[in-house]
Amino acid sequence: MKLIIFGPPGSGKGTYASILEKKLGIPKINTGDIFREIIKRKSNLSKKIASYVLSGKLVPDEITIQVLKKRLAKKDCKNGFILDGYPRTIQQAEALEKISSPDLIINLVVPQNVIIARLSGRLICPNCNAIYHKIFLKPKNNEICDKCGSKLIQREDDKPEVIKERFSVYQKQSKPLIDYYKKKKPFGNVKCNKVDIPPEVVVERILKKIKELGF
Ligand code: AMP
Repeated sequence: MKLIIFGPPGSGKGTYASILEKKLGIPKINTGDIFREIIKRKSNLSKKIASYVLSGKLVPDEITIQVLKKRLAKKDCKNGFILDGYPRTIQQAEALEKISSPDLIINLVVPQNVIIARLSGRLICPNCNAIYHKIFLKPKNNEICDKCGSKLIQREDDKPEVIKERFSVYQKQSKPLIDYYKKKKPFGNVKCNKVDIPPEVVVERILKKIKELGF
C-alpha cells in the first residue's frame, strides 16, 4: 500500500505514521527527518537546506523531489510506504505520480488549539527521530528517549515565530493539495479533536478509514 498521511504541522502525522509502519509493515518516509539528517552532515547542501527548515519555509521542490526519489528507490519501499510530510506542493504531488503513484490519502483534521498545544510541548530524539510530548506523550525517564537513550530536544523550528511561518506556508502551499487529491484518489478525513487522545485511538480511526476506502 502506498499511503499519504496529510495534515498541518503538529497534526500528529509523524507519531501516527510511526505506529502505522509497524502495523502495516511498510516504512514511514518523512522528508523533514531526511532533511534534519542532511543538516547534521554539514555540507554545502546542508547549509542551504538548513536556511529553509530553520525559517519555516519549504525546501525548494527540485531538491525535495530528488531526495524523495532517492529514498523511494530503496528496497524497503518495494511493498509500499507511508509518506509523512510529502507532498507539500502541487508540483511535488505531480512529481510523485511519475515516481510512484500513491494509492490513497488520509487527511488529519485537527483544530488549531490542539495543534498549538502539540507543537509547543513537542520533544524529539535527535538520534532516532522518535517523537514525544512534555505532557501528553511523556518518555518513561525525564527527557530521555525510550528507544535509544539519547537526550530529547525541542526542534528549533517549534519556536513560536517559526511555527507561525510554517502555518502560513501550510495554508498557502500545502492545503490546496486537499482539493487536488479529493478529485484524484481515494481520500478520507480522520478527526483528532482533542490534544490528549491516545495515539493508538487515532491510529485505529485511520485503519478503519483505510478499510472503508477499500484497502
Ligand atoms: P516536518 O518535520 O515535516 O515538520 O518538516 C520540517 C521542515 O522540513 C519543513 O518546515 C520544511 O522546511 C522542510 N520540509 C519537510 N518536508 C518538506 C517537503 N515535502 N517540501 C519542502 N520542504 C519540506
